[in-house]
Amino acid sequence: MKKDITTTNPYSNEDLESYNYFTSNEISEILLHADKTFQTWKTKGLSKKTGLVKKVADNLWDNRDKYAKLISSEMGKPIKESLAEIDKCMYLCDFYAKTSSDLLADALIETDAQESFISYDPLGVILGVMPWNYPFWQVLRFAIPTLTAGNCVVLKHASNVTGCALAIQDVFEDAGYPMGCFTTIVADHSAIESIIKNDIVKAISLTGSEKAGRKIAEIAGSQLKKLVLELGGNNACIVLNDADLDSHLSTMVNARMLNTGQSCIAAKRFIVEAEIYDTFLEQFTKKVAALKSGDPLLEDTEIGTLARPDLADILEDQVNRSVEQGAHIHYGNARDHAYYQPTIITEVTTNMPVFTEETFGPVAAIIKVSNKEEAYKLASDTSFGLGTMIFTENIEDAKQNIIHIEDGAFFINEMVKSDPRLPFGGTKNSGYGRELSKEGLLAFTNKKTVYIK
Ligand code: NDP
Repeated sequence: MKKDITTTNPYSNEDLESYNYFTSNEISEILLHADKTFQTWKTKGLSKKTGLVKKVADNLWDNRDKYAKLISSEMGKPIKESLAEIDKCMYLCDFYAKTSSDLLADALIETDAQESFISYDPLGVILGVMPWNYPFWQVLRFAIPTLTAGNCVVLKHASNVTGCALAIQDVFEDAGYPMGCFTTIVADHSAIESIIKNDIVKAISLTGSEKAGRKIAEIAGSQLKKLVLELGGNNACIVLNDADLDSHLSTMVNARMLNTGQSCIAAKRFIVEAEIYDTFLEQFTKKVAALKSGDPLLEDTEIGTLARPDLADILEDQVNRSVEQGAHIHYGNARDHAYYQPTIITEVTTNMPVFTEETFGPVAAIIKVSNKEEAYKLASDTSFGLGTMIFTENIEDAKQNIIHIEDGAFFINEMVKSDPRLPFGGTKNSGYGRELSKEGLLAFTNKKTVYIK
């Protein structure tokens, strides 16, 4: 009998594995078990918890090749980037293993009490709804701090990476986490509503599309449950006349093409000052054209496929609608099933889909502007608010503009990227709340005031 989910390699189009959705009874049992585990997990000492985080890192190291291959097979990421994803997860573990005891320590506050402080207590069972683009990183970035703060986690992963979802549960169980601390639920997203409405679930973290964000926020809102939303982005990359292209051009190309363009924080709109425009376009195009497309499982592949063919359909439609409005295909735009050739679009105006919508694939929209003021203005001219990057030799001047950037991040002479030491998240339609750093560790805690007279 046909199963509910069949994962498919988007490069070879071969089926990988089939899975059935969990029944509603099975999901209820998982939530009950997670809640029971939470009652004891929350009382375990922090050194026990950080010890297990180290074991997760060991497990990732021992199975690095296997997990990287699974990522690349399920969603088409070039294997060297899948390996880097696993390495980044290990770094995340190392960060929280070393810093959590300081970051979660009671915060003493002097008042007229004999003693008063904030105690960072866990909330309970937290639901993670996660996407396919970084199938290990997105989950661990949420789960490691959430578990370390004393919560339990249930995961609803994107269906096309169900193999990764189940492998991550193995990672936690093999590391020695008590059963019920981390559980994957294999379900259609229509099951999410009843999971959120279950009293056991205390809060939700979603990384995914704006559409999913709006739906989940509605349900969580009706239940008055806390939510962290990390949604799409439409980051600008501003290139000013004084930008050092020799030093930074590779970073700019990476900012768009990493993960075959499927990153929420990728540079999607290149806003380039007129004087440097021709040189930038020529050099940028040369570098983009040199990227090697191919089988994601081969070591020298730099551009894989999109995660699913329907995602290439969406991208193609965005490009076609922009071309109908006068955009020019400067380079690329070949399409084969889930493969989308790195593409550069010029003559872009602010009403075109490649400017107004998030393009989740290797398509760079290039916009020429006559001065710096116009560049900043267009950078903010988006409904999203994840990040802006700027390339300029005048760092002092860029710093004067921090206040005018409405996004969650502003990177000067570097691509917007996540780092476990720094908070990560957006504004506007990119969502709210922060992951990583101390912010991520405290996101799902009850900041309890304790007062002793
Ligand atoms: P989705 O937002 O649809 O998927 C992300 C997660 O949300 C999955 O677990 C999915 O489950 C779930 N989900 C989807 N719809 C709903 C819903 N109505 N209610 C509850 N949960 C839901 O991403 P897509 O796969 O459709 O990707 C399309 C677009 O999403 C991209 O073009 C990009 O704009 C954005 N995106 C952004 C990411 C980011 O990092 N910010 C990551 C991935 C996508 P299921 O798989 O079962 O549908």
